[in-house]
Amino acid sequence: MTAEVAVVGGGPAGLMSAIALKAAGVDTLLIAPQPDDDHRTTALLAGSVTALATLGVWQACLPHAAPLASIRLVDDTRRLLRAPEVMFAATEIGLDAFGYNIENRHLIAALYERAAQLKISRVAAPAVAIASDPAGVTITLADSVARVRLAIGADGQRSLCRAAAGIGTDRRAYPQTALTVNLAHERPHQDTATEFHTGSGPLTLVPLPGRRSSVVCVLDPKRAAALAAMTDADLSAEIERRAHSLFGKMNVEPGRGVFPLAVETAHSFARGRIALVGEAAHVVPPIGAQGLNLGFRDAATLGEIVAEARRNSVDLGSPGVLARYDNQRRADVTSRKIAIDLLNRSLLTDFLPVQGIRGLSLFLVDRIGPLRRALMREGVMPAASQPRLMRGEMV
Ligand SMILES: Cc1cc2nc3c(=O)[nH]c(=O)nc-3n(C[C@H](O)[C@H](O)[C@H](O)COP(=O)(O)OP(=O)(O)OC[C@H]3O[C@@H](n4cnc5c(N)ncnc54)[C@H](O)[C@@H]3O)c2cc1C
Repeated sequence: MTAEVAVVGGGPAGLMSAIALKAAGVDTLLIAPQPDDDHRTTALLAGSVTALATLGVWQACLPHAAPLASIRLVDDTRRLLRAPEVMFAATEIGLDAFGYNIENRHLIAALYERAAQLKISRVAAPAVAIASDPAGVTITLADSVARVRLAIGADGQRSLCRAAAGIGTDRRAYPQTALTVNLAHERPHQDTATEFHTGSGPLTLVPLPGRRSSVVCVLDPKRAAALAAMTDADLSAEIERRAHSLFGKMNVEPGRGVFPLAVETAHSFARGRIALVGEAAHVVPPIGAQGLNLGFRDAATLGEIVAEARRNSVDLGSPGVLARYDNQRRADVTSRKIAIDLLNRSLLTDFLPVQGIRGLSLFLVDRIGPLRRALMREGVMPAASQPRLMRGEMV
């Protein structure tokens, strides 16, 4: 064996998996080509922040992160049945912040820094072929071969590991595209994230340090392409108009992203000595900041199960270990997927009763304190999944 475990993919989910395992004493190989430039940001919820702090990553993130003290939902659908504006404050559930927003490039740099401190062996090249057999997994690289007991597929939406394990997916594309850009603005955001719900999808402004925010604007694909092609001045003015000049004059920064939206879930999260984490396992649209938070919970759960198997001298890629992982992740992923899908579809629909139900639900959330607080707690710390790292304990 080259190592006990190989993590294939050096995005945030793969890096957290590798760091958690190595910190628990598991001999881990990271197969990770240099990641592409990513100008997106991630709203990390409290559990993810705790996990990063527990693994010694958060200290390097903090100077680049902005707290999310409040979240405001504004119904901007201009429809007959509209929802009231709803404000969620973290202090209502005894927290200073629901989490923090950070640019992915800073998050990934902090994770790589920690991986280097832990001396995780890294091959900075992609896996080109993966094959598992009853005794182990063989990973073919450009000019070498690795042999491990367990391969962790953290290789994103078009996962080679998932294909090698013969795992299919359920995938549905939405008629929507997310345009992402970061910007500076005149007035302070007061640590409040604002989500305008429009008939084409949400426009979300999430705080960054200083008078800056990240923007995710969900639109129909043609409109998204038109906005992406605008000059900086025109795009700044367009976002300011869509945000009703909430923070005054806006100036977009270099680096735009265009992401067609889809929901996709692997039929199984592990099979044949290969376990999937992050977007290799599930993709959800960027509504309610759930995608990577789910991915980090995958990494934390798998790390816990593998570390325990190792302490008990159990084969790390055995069917029992893989089945436990699949079982423990199913409810969390499914419940988030359904909630996001319902919210998104209720925005897109022209069907009046559905718009009414959406408005009524938000009205109840606004008026009924215990319901609002339960929703906030579930958002930050889901009942279905509380792995040890998210509670501040090592795996
Ligand atoms: C617009 C937008 C906004 C978002 N905002 C949020 C948010 O606020 N909060 C949140 O929680 N989530 C958010 N998400 C979701 C989040 O960005 C993703 O969940 C996250 O990036 C997925 O991380 P990952 O590590 O699973 O995959 P990726 O980041 O895709 O990483 C996969 C890695 O695998 C590597 N790879 C691929 N093939 C191979 C191979 N054969 N060998 C080796 N390596 C390979 C790639 O190079 C890449 O580095 C957002 C998504 C979008 C589109």
